[in-house]
Amino acid sequence: MSQTTHARPGKKSKDEALPDPYTPGHGQAGYVVAHYDLELAIRLASNRLSGRARLRSTARDRLETVVLSLAGLRATKVQVNGAKPAKTSQRADELRITPSAPIAKGQDFHLEIRYEGNPEPVDGLWGEVGWEELSDGVLVSGQPVGAPTWFPCNDHPSQKSTFRITATADAGYRVVSNGLLVGHRRKASRETWAYEVHEPMAPYLATLVIGRYQFLELGRVRAHGSPAVSVFAAVPPALRGAALTGLRDQVRMIELFAELFGPYPFRDYTVVVTDDPLEIPLEAQTLSIVGRNHITRSWDSQRLLAHELAHQWFGNSVTARRWEDIWLHEGFACYAEWLWSEHSGQGTAAARAADAWRLLSAQKEDILVGAPGAELMFDDRVYKRGALALHAVRRAVGDDRFFRALAAFGSERRHGNATTADFTELLGRVGAGARGFRGEDLLGPWLFERALPPLPR
Ligand SMILES: [Zn+2]
Repeated sequence: MSQTTHARPGKKSKDEALPDPYTPGHGQAGYVVAHYDLELAIRLASNRLSGRARLRSTARDRLETVVLSLAGLRATKVQVNGAKPAKTSQRADELRITPSAPIAKGQDFHLEIRYEGNPEPVDGLWGEVGWEELSDGVLVSGQPVGAPTWFPCNDHPSQKSTFRITATADAGYRVVSNGLLVGHRRKASRETWAYEVHEPMAPYLATLVIGRYQFLELGRVRAHGSPAVSVFAAVPPALRGAALTGLRDQVRMIELFAELFGPYPFRDYTVVVTDDPLEIPLEAQTLSIVGRNHITRSWDSQRLLAHELAHQWFGNSVTARRWEDIWLHEGFACYAEWLWSEHSGQGTAAARAADAWRLLSAQKEDILVGAPGAELMFDDRVYKRGALALHAVRRAVGDDRFFRALAAFGSERRHGNATTADFTELLGRVGAGARGFRGEDLLGPWLFERALPPLPR
Protein backbone atom coordinates (compact mmCIF):
# COMPACT_ATOMS: atom_id res chain seq x y z
CA MET A 1 0.00 0.00 0.00
CA SER A 2 1.65 3.21 -1.12
CA GLN A 3 1.83 5.80 1.59
CA THR A 4 3.77 8.35 -0.33
CA THR A 5 0.86 10.40 -1.62
CA HIS A 6 -1.01 11.08 1.62
CA ALA A 7 -2.24 14.59 2.21
CA ARG A 8 -0.48 16.66 4.81
CA PRO A 9 -2.93 18.22 7.18
CA GLY A 10 -3.87 21.71 6.15
CA LYS A 11 -2.71 21.15 2.61
CA LYS A 12 -5.57 20.69 0.19
CA SER A 13 -5.32 17.28 -1.35
CA LYS A 14 -6.88 16.51 -4.68
CA ASP A 15 -9.67 15.18 -2.53
CA GLU A 16 -10.59 12.41 -4.89
CA ALA A 17 -12.13 9.66 -2.85
CA LEU A 18 -12.35 7.08 -5.61
CA PRO A 19 -10.85 4.75 -6.50
CA ASP A 20 -9.86 4.06 -2.90
CA PRO A 21 -6.60 2.09 -2.67
CA TYR A 22 -7.67 0.78 0.75
CA THR A 23 -10.63 -1.11 -0.72
CA PRO A 24 -9.80 -1.76 -4.37
CA GLY A 25 -12.83 -2.44 -6.54
CA HIS A 26 -15.25 -1.01 -3.98
CA GLY A 27 -16.98 2.24 -4.86
CA GLN A 28 -17.48 3.83 -8.26
CA ALA A 29 -16.98 7.50 -9.02
CA GLY A 30 -19.11 7.37 -12.18
CA TYR A 31 -22.51 7.53 -10.48
CA VAL A 32 -24.13 8.35 -7.17
CA VAL A 33 -26.99 6.42 -5.65
CA ALA A 34 -29.55 8.78 -4.14
CA HIS A 35 -31.75 6.05 -2.70
CA TYR A 36 -31.78 2.32 -2.06
CA ASP A 37 -35.07 0.49 -1.67
CA LEU A 38 -34.31 -3.03 -0.46
CA GLU A 39 -36.91 -5.75 -0.11
CA LEU A 40 -35.52 -8.89 1.44
CA ALA A 41 -36.88 -12.28 2.34
CA ILE A 42 -34.78 -14.31 4.74
CA ARG A 43 -35.18 -17.95 5.74
CA LEU A 44 -33.12 -18.42 8.87
CA ALA A 45 -32.94 -22.22 9.03
CA SER A 46 -31.47 -22.51 5.55
CA ASN A 47 -29.75 -19.06 5.66
CA ARG A 48 -31.41 -18.17 2.38
CA LEU A 49 -31.77 -14.60 1.16
CA SER A 50 -33.76 -13.43 -1.81
CA GLY A 51 -33.84 -9.74 -2.47
CA ARG A 52 -34.98 -7.01 -4.75
CA ALA A 53 -32.93 -3.81 -4.76
CA ARG A 54 -34.17 -0.68 -6.47
CA LEU A 55 -31.55 2.03 -6.82
CA ARG A 56 -32.26 5.58 -7.88
CA SER A 57 -29.02 7.04 -9.20
CA THR A 58 -27.47 9.84 -11.19
CA ALA A 59 -24.61 9.43 -13.65
CA ARG A 60 -21.62 11.67 -12.99
CA ASP A 61 -19.92 10.47 -16.15
CA ARG A 62 -21.18 8.93 -19.32
CA LEU A 63 -21.74 5.31 -18.36
CA GLU A 64 -21.41 2.44 -20.73
CA THR A 65 -21.38 0.01 -17.84
CA VAL A 66 -22.68 0.36 -14.30
CA VAL A 67 -20.56 -1.54 -11.79
CA LEU A 68 -21.89 -2.52 -8.38
CA SER A 69 -20.40 -4.58 -5.57
CA LEU A 70 -22.24 -7.81 -4.78
CA ALA A 71 -20.50 -10.68 -3.00
CA GLY A 72 -21.58 -14.30 -2.83
CA LEU A 73 -25.10 -13.67 -4.15
CA ARG A 74 -26.39 -14.20 -7.66
CA ALA A 75 -28.25 -11.50 -9.56
CA THR A 76 -31.16 -13.28 -11.26
CA LYS A 77 -32.91 -10.41 -13.01
CA VAL A 78 -31.70 -6.89 -13.75
CA GLN A 79 -33.51 -3.93 -15.25
CA VAL A 80 -32.22 -0.49 -16.16
CA ASN A 81 -34.99 2.11 -16.38
CA GLY A 82 -37.50 -0.71 -16.63
CA ALA A 83 -35.77 -2.43 -19.56
CA LYS A 84 -33.56 -5.44 -19.88
CA PRO A 85 -29.91 -4.40 -20.18
CA ALA A 86 -27.77 -5.45 -23.13
CA LYS A 87 -25.54 -7.46 -20.84
CA THR A 88 -25.17 -8.42 -17.19
CA SER A 89 -22.17 -10.24 -15.82
CA GLN A 90 -20.89 -11.18 -12.40
CA ARG A 91 -17.32 -11.90 -11.53
CA ALA A 92 -15.73 -12.03 -8.11
CA ASP A 93 -17.51 -9.34 -6.09
CA GLU A 94 -18.62 -7.26 -9.06
CA LEU A 95 -21.92 -7.01 -10.85
CA ARG A 96 -21.48 -5.30 -14.23
CA ILE A 97 -24.53 -4.04 -16.03
CA THR A 98 -24.33 -2.77 -19.60
CA PRO A 99 -27.50 -0.88 -20.51
CA SER A 100 -28.79 -1.12 -24.07
CA ALA A 101 -27.61 2.46 -24.59
CA PRO A 102 -25.00 4.39 -22.58
CA ILE A 103 -26.33 6.59 -19.78
CA ALA A 104 -25.52 10.23 -20.40
CA LYS A 105 -23.60 12.30 -17.88
CA GLY A 106 -26.02 13.96 -15.48
CA GLN A 107 -28.88 11.62 -16.31
CA ASP A 108 -30.95 9.97 -13.57
CA PHE A 109 -31.45 6.24 -13.90
CA HIS A 110 -33.15 3.41 -12.08
CA LEU A 111 -31.79 -0.05 -11.47
CA GLU A 112 -33.83 -2.97 -10.28
CA ILE A 113 -31.86 -6.03 -9.29
CA ARG A 114 -33.33 -9.30 -8.10
CA TYR A 115 -30.80 -11.50 -6.39
CA GLU A 116 -30.54 -14.53 -4.16
CA GLY A 117 -28.28 -16.98 -2.47
CA ASN A 118 -26.87 -18.10 0.84
CA PRO A 119 -25.22 -14.98 2.18
CA GLU A 120 -21.91 -15.37 3.96
CA PRO A 121 -19.12 -13.13 5.17
CA VAL A 122 -16.22 -12.14 2.96
CA ASP A 123 -12.75 -12.85 4.23
CA GLY A 124 -9.98 -10.33 3.76
CA LEU A 125 -7.40 -8.11 5.41
CA TRP A 126 -9.71 -7.45 8.34
CA GLY A 127 -10.95 -10.98 8.95
CA GLU A 128 -14.51 -11.92 8.10
CA VAL A 129 -16.96 -9.08 7.55
CA GLY A 130 -20.52 -8.86 6.33
CA TRP A 131 -23.43 -11.25 6.81
CA GLU A 132 -22.86 -13.44 9.81
CA GLU A 133 -25.03 -16.21 11.19
CA LEU A 134 -25.42 -16.23 14.96
CA SER A 135 -26.51 -19.17 17.12
CA ASP A 136 -30.11 -18.05 16.62
CA GLY A 137 -30.27 -15.24 14.10
CA VAL A 138 -28.12 -13.02 11.95
CA LEU A 139 -26.12 -9.82 12.05
CA VAL A 140 -24.28 -7.77 9.46
CA SER A 141 -20.93 -6.13 10.19
CA GLY A 142 -20.49 -3.87 7.22
CA GLN A 143 -17.16 -2.22 7.96
CA PRO A 144 -15.37 -1.82 5.69
CA VAL A 145 -16.48 -4.06 2.78
CA GLY A 146 -19.31 -6.18 4.22
CA ALA A 147 -22.29 -4.39 2.65
CA PRO A 148 -22.15 -6.27 -0.68
CA THR A 149 -22.72 -9.55 1.18
CA TRP A 150 -26.42 -8.60 1.48
CA PHE A 151 -27.20 -5.98 -1.16
CA PRO A 152 -25.74 -4.62 -4.41
CA CYS A 153 -24.24 -1.21 -3.75
CA ASN A 154 -21.83 1.54 -4.59
CA ASP A 155 -19.71 0.52 -1.64
CA HIS A 156 -17.71 3.42 -0.29
CA PRO A 157 -17.97 5.79 2.69
CA SER A 158 -18.07 8.78 0.34
CA GLN A 159 -21.22 7.37 -1.27
CA LYS A 160 -24.11 8.25 1.03
CA SER A 161 -27.74 7.57 0.23
CA THR A 162 -31.15 7.36 1.84
CA PHE A 163 -32.57 3.88 2.35
CA ARG A 164 -35.74 1.95 2.77
CA ILE A 165 -35.13 -1.56 4.08
CA THR A 166 -37.98 -4.04 4.23
CA ALA A 167 -37.17 -7.50 5.51
CA THR A 168 -39.36 -10.54 5.99
CA ALA A 169 -38.14 -13.31 8.27
CA ASP A 170 -39.53 -16.16 10.33
CA ALA A 171 -42.31 -15.19 12.74
CA GLY A 172 -41.15 -14.75 16.33
CA TYR A 173 -37.93 -13.07 15.26
CA ARG A 174 -37.38 -9.36 15.35
CA VAL A 175 -35.63 -7.67 12.45
CA VAL A 176 -33.68 -4.60 13.51
CA SER A 177 -32.31 -2.24 10.91
CA ASN A 178 -31.27 1.40 10.57
CA GLY A 179 -33.46 4.43 10.96
CA LEU A 180 -37.11 4.48 11.86
CA LEU A 181 -39.42 1.49 12.00
CA VAL A 182 -42.24 2.47 9.67
CA GLY A 183 -44.12 -0.79 9.25
CA HIS A 184 -44.60 -4.24 10.75
CA ARG A 185 -47.01 -7.00 9.83
CA ARG A 186 -47.41 -10.66 10.50
CA LYS A 187 -48.74 -13.12 8.00
CA ALA A 188 -48.90 -16.82 8.83
CA SER A 189 -45.38 -17.91 9.76
CA ARG A 190 -43.64 -14.79 8.45
CA GLU A 191 -43.13 -11.28 9.80
CA THR A 192 -42.20 -8.20 7.81
CA TRP A 193 -40.39 -5.16 9.16
CA ALA A 194 -39.86 -1.92 7.26
CA TYR A 195 -37.35 0.80 8.09
CA GLU A 196 -36.58 4.18 6.57
CA VAL A 197 -33.32 6.05 6.74
CA HIS A 198 -33.83 9.70 5.86
CA GLU A 199 -30.32 10.88 6.69
CA PRO A 200 -27.73 9.94 4.05
CA MET A 201 -25.96 6.74 5.02
CA ALA A 202 -22.83 5.03 3.71
CA PRO A 203 -23.54 1.42 2.65
CA TYR A 204 -21.14 -0.05 5.23
CA LEU A 205 -23.25 1.50 7.99
CA ALA A 206 -26.39 -0.30 6.85
CA THR A 207 -27.15 -3.36 8.93
CA LEU A 208 -29.65 -6.05 9.62
CA VAL A 209 -29.85 -7.85 12.93
CA ILE A 210 -32.33 -10.68 13.33
CA GLY A 211 -32.98 -12.47 16.57
CA ARG A 212 -35.41 -13.05 19.38
CA TYR A 213 -35.18 -9.52 20.68
CA GLN A 214 -37.36 -7.62 23.07
CA PHE A 215 -37.36 -3.83 22.87
CA LEU A 216 -36.76 -1.78 26.01
CA GLU A 217 -36.99 1.99 26.10
CA LEU A 218 -33.97 3.25 28.02
CA GLY A 219 -35.16 6.85 28.01
CA ARG A 220 -35.64 9.97 25.99
CA VAL A 221 -33.05 12.67 25.57
CA ARG A 222 -33.81 16.29 24.96
CA ALA A 223 -30.61 18.18 25.44
CA HIS A 224 -28.69 21.08 23.98
CA GLY A 225 -30.89 21.76 21.05
CA SER A 226 -31.28 18.10 20.04
CA PRO A 227 -34.78 17.11 19.06
CA ALA A 228 -36.09 14.47 21.45
CA VAL A 229 -34.17 11.26 20.85
CA SER A 230 -35.59 7.92 21.90
CA VAL A 231 -33.05 5.48 23.26
CA PHE A 232 -33.81 1.77 23.03
CA ALA A 233 -32.18 -1.55 23.71
CA ALA A 234 -33.02 -4.68 21.76
CA VAL A 235 -32.19 -7.62 23.99
CA PRO A 236 -32.87 -11.33 24.31
CA PRO A 237 -35.51 -11.58 27.07
CA ALA A 238 -33.16 -13.51 29.36
CA LEU A 239 -30.68 -10.60 29.30
CA ARG A 240 -33.24 -7.93 30.17
CA GLY A 241 -31.99 -7.35 33.73
CA ALA A 242 -28.32 -7.36 32.78
CA ALA A 243 -28.98 -4.98 29.90
CA LEU A 244 -30.90 -2.49 32.04
CA THR A 245 -27.96 -2.38 34.44
CA GLY A 246 -25.22 -2.40 31.85
CA LEU A 247 -26.84 0.19 29.60
CA ARG A 248 -28.16 2.49 32.30
CA ASP A 249 -25.71 5.30 31.44
CA GLN A 250 -26.48 5.40 27.73
CA VAL A 251 -28.87 8.32 28.10
CA ARG A 252 -26.32 10.29 30.15
CA MET A 253 -23.68 9.52 27.55
CA ILE A 254 -25.90 10.94 24.79
CA GLU A 255 -26.54 14.03 26.90
CA LEU A 256 -22.82 14.56 27.42
CA PHE A 257 -21.88 14.02 23.78
CA ALA A 258 -24.73 16.26 22.60
CA GLU A 259 -23.38 18.96 24.89
CA LEU A 260 -19.81 18.54 23.63
CA PHE A 261 -20.25 17.52 19.97
CA GLY A 262 -23.56 19.17 19.08
CA PRO A 263 -27.06 17.73 18.75
CA TYR A 264 -27.42 13.96 18.35
CA PRO A 265 -27.52 13.59 14.54
CA PHE A 266 -30.42 11.10 14.25
CA ARG A 267 -33.93 10.54 15.53
CA ASP A 268 -33.33 7.51 17.68
CA TYR A 269 -30.66 5.20 18.97
CA THR A 270 -30.82 1.48 19.63
CA VAL A 271 -28.27 -0.76 21.26
CA VAL A 272 -28.72 -4.33 20.10
CA VAL A 273 -27.37 -6.90 22.54
CA THR A 274 -26.78 -10.24 20.87
CA ASP A 275 -27.28 -13.49 22.73
CA ASP A 276 -23.85 -14.55 21.47
CA PRO A 277 -20.70 -12.97 22.83
CA LEU A 278 -19.00 -10.76 20.23
CA GLU A 279 -15.31 -10.11 19.90
CA ILE A 280 -15.88 -6.39 19.28
CA PRO A 281 -19.00 -4.22 19.19
CA LEU A 282 -20.10 -2.89 15.81
CA GLU A 283 -21.24 0.55 14.78
CA ALA A 284 -24.10 1.14 12.37
CA GLN A 285 -26.12 4.25 11.64
CA THR A 286 -28.58 4.82 14.54
CA LEU A 287 -27.50 1.50 16.06
CA SER A 288 -24.75 -0.18 17.98
CA ILE A 289 -24.47 -3.94 18.10
CA VAL A 290 -22.82 -5.34 21.20
CA GLY A 291 -22.40 -8.85 22.52
CA ARG A 292 -23.78 -10.18 25.77
CA ASN A 293 -20.22 -9.82 27.07
CA HIS A 294 -20.31 -6.03 26.58
CA ILE A 295 -23.04 -5.10 29.04
CA THR A 296 -21.12 -5.41 32.29
CA ARG A 297 -20.44 -2.37 34.49
CA SER A 298 -16.67 -2.73 33.99
CA TRP A 299 -14.78 0.19 32.45
CA ASP A 300 -13.87 -1.98 29.48
CA SER A 301 -17.54 -2.52 28.65
CA GLN A 302 -18.62 1.03 29.44
CA ARG A 303 -15.88 2.58 27.36
CA LEU A 304 -16.93 0.49 24.38
CA LEU A 305 -20.56 1.57 24.82
CA ALA A 306 -19.40 5.20 24.87
CA HIS A 307 -17.14 4.58 21.88
CA GLU A 308 -19.85 3.06 19.69
CA LEU A 309 -22.30 5.80 20.64
CA ALA A 310 -19.76 8.51 19.74
CA HIS A 311 -19.56 7.04 16.23
CA GLN A 312 -23.07 8.37 15.60
CA TRP A 313 -21.42 11.82 15.44
CA PHE A 314 -17.97 10.87 14.14
CA GLY A 315 -18.13 8.02 11.66
CA ASN A 316 -21.83 7.90 10.86
CA SER A 317 -22.91 11.54 10.53
CA VAL A 318 -19.44 12.91 9.73
CA THR A 319 -17.88 10.13 7.68
CA ALA A 320 -14.32 9.89 6.42
CA ARG A 321 -14.20 10.63 2.74
CA ARG A 322 -11.62 7.91 2.22
CA TRP A 323 -10.65 5.01 4.44
CA GLU A 324 -7.24 6.62 4.86
CA ASP A 325 -8.90 9.20 7.13
CA ILE A 326 -10.28 6.52 9.47
CA TRP A 327 -8.67 8.22 12.49
CA LEU A 328 -11.48 10.80 12.12
CA HIS A 329 -13.76 7.98 13.31
CA GLU A 330 -11.58 6.01 15.67
CA GLY A 331 -9.46 8.73 17.25
CA PHE A 332 -12.59 10.76 17.94
CA ALA A 333 -14.56 7.82 19.35
CA CYS A 334 -11.61 6.83 21.52
CA TYR A 335 -11.34 10.40 22.82
CA ALA A 336 -15.08 10.27 23.55
CA GLU A 337 -14.35 7.31 25.85
CA TRP A 338 -11.94 9.49 27.81
CA LEU A 339 -14.43 12.34 27.93
CA TRP A 340 -17.03 9.99 29.37
CA SER A 341 -14.45 8.74 31.86
CA GLU A 342 -13.77 12.32 32.94
CA HIS A 343 -17.46 13.24 33.14
CA SER A 344 -18.47 10.15 35.09
CA GLY A 345 -15.63 10.46 37.59
CA GLN A 346 -13.72 7.41 36.39
CA GLY A 347 -10.46 9.17 35.59
CA THR A 348 -9.66 12.41 33.80
CA ALA A 349 -9.03 12.52 30.09
CA ALA A 350 -5.47 13.58 30.97
CA ALA A 351 -4.99 10.41 33.03
CA ARG A 352 -6.48 8.25 30.25
CA ALA A 353 -4.22 10.04 27.75
CA ALA A 354 -1.18 9.34 29.93
CA ASP A 355 -2.13 5.64 30.14
CA ALA A 356 -2.56 5.43 26.38
CA TRP A 357 0.72 7.25 25.78
CA ARG A 358 2.58 4.80 28.06
CA LEU A 359 1.06 1.86 26.17
CA LEU A 360 2.01 3.38 22.84
CA SER A 361 5.53 4.20 23.96
CA ALA A 362 6.10 0.49 24.56
CA GLN A 363 5.01 -0.38 21.02
CA LYS A 364 6.68 -0.16 17.65
CA GLU A 365 6.62 3.32 16.16
CA ASP A 366 6.02 2.23 12.60
CA ILE A 367 2.60 3.58 11.73
CA LEU A 368 1.31 6.79 10.20
CA VAL A 369 -1.99 7.27 11.95
CA GLY A 370 -3.23 9.69 9.30
CA ALA A 371 -2.36 7.24 6.49
CA PRO A 372 -2.09 3.82 8.15
CA GLY A 373 -2.48 1.69 5.03
CA ALA A 374 -5.33 -0.73 4.52
CA GLU A 375 -3.91 -3.48 6.68
CA LEU A 376 -3.46 -1.27 9.73
CA MET A 377 -6.51 0.92 9.45
CA PHE A 378 -8.13 -0.72 12.48
CA ASP A 379 -4.88 -0.97 14.43
CA ASP A 380 -5.29 0.10 18.03
CA ARG A 381 -2.63 2.77 17.52
CA VAL A 382 -4.94 4.59 15.08
CA TYR A 383 -7.46 4.79 17.90
CA LYS A 384 -5.17 5.76 20.75
CA ARG A 385 -2.75 8.03 18.90
CA GLY A 386 -5.70 9.60 17.12
CA ALA A 387 -7.25 10.36 20.51
CA LEU A 388 -3.93 11.71 21.77
CA ALA A 389 -3.78 14.02 18.75
CA LEU A 390 -7.10 15.48 19.83
CA HIS A 391 -5.89 15.73 23.40
CA ALA A 392 -2.87 17.65 22.15
CA VAL A 393 -5.19 20.10 20.38
CA ARG A 394 -7.28 20.49 23.52
CA ARG A 395 -4.18 21.24 25.55
CA ALA A 396 -2.96 23.77 23.00
CA VAL A 397 -6.16 25.75 22.46
CA GLY A 398 -8.04 25.23 25.72
CA ASP A 399 -11.38 23.56 26.41
CA ASP A 400 -13.55 26.31 25.03
CA ARG A 401 -11.98 26.46 21.58
CA PHE A 402 -11.44 22.72 21.44
CA PHE A 403 -15.06 21.79 22.05
CA ARG A 404 -16.22 24.58 19.77
CA ALA A 405 -14.08 23.00 17.04
CA LEU A 406 -15.51 19.53 17.63
CA ALA A 407 -19.07 20.84 17.53
CA ALA A 408 -18.33 22.91 14.43
CA PHE A 409 -16.87 19.85 12.72
CA GLY A 410 -19.97 17.87 13.65
CA SER A 411 -22.35 20.52 12.36
CA GLU A 412 -20.50 21.71 9.24
CA ARG A 413 -20.00 18.15 8.02
CA ARG A 414 -23.27 16.77 9.37
CA HIS A 415 -24.51 13.82 7.27
CA GLY A 416 -21.59 14.35 4.94
CA ASN A 417 -17.94 13.48 4.51
CA ALA A 418 -14.67 14.97 5.65
CA THR A 419 -10.93 14.58 5.33
CA THR A 420 -8.11 15.24 7.75
CA ALA A 421 -7.37 18.41 5.77
CA ASP A 422 -10.94 19.59 6.37
CA PHE A 423 -10.53 19.12 10.10
CA THR A 424 -7.16 20.86 10.17
CA GLU A 425 -8.54 23.77 8.21
CA LEU A 426 -11.41 24.09 10.67
CA LEU A 427 -9.02 23.95 13.62
CA GLY A 428 -7.09 26.80 12.03
CA ARG A 429 -10.24 28.89 11.98
CA VAL A 430 -11.45 28.05 15.47
CA GLY A 431 -8.02 27.94 17.05
CA ALA A 432 -6.80 31.08 15.31
CA GLY A 433 -7.36 33.12 18.46
CA ALA A 434 -4.97 30.93 20.44
CA ARG A 435 -1.53 32.44 20.37
CA GLY A 436 0.87 30.66 18.05
CA PHE A 437 -1.66 27.99 17.15
CA ARG A 438 -1.23 26.10 13.90
CA GLY A 439 -3.38 23.00 13.48
CA GLU A 440 -0.99 21.60 10.91
CA ASP A 441 2.07 21.84 13.15
CA LEU A 442 0.20 20.33 16.03
CA LEU A 443 -1.44 17.39 14.26
CA GLY A 444 1.37 16.62 11.83
CA PRO A 445 3.66 14.76 14.25
CA TRP A 446 0.76 12.71 15.66
CA LEU A 447 -0.71 11.78 12.30
CA PHE A 448 2.02 11.88 9.69
CA GLU A 449 5.23 10.99 11.51
CA ARG A 450 6.15 7.63 12.93
CA ALA A 451 7.91 8.72 16.12
CA LEU A 452 5.57 9.13 19.08
CA PRO A 453 5.43 12.80 20.12
CA PRO A 454 5.80 13.60 23.83
CA LEU A 455 2.72 13.37 26.01
CA PRO A 456 0.79 16.66 25.78
CA ARG A 457 0.90 18.45 29.11
ZN1 LIG B 1 -14.72 2.52 16.59
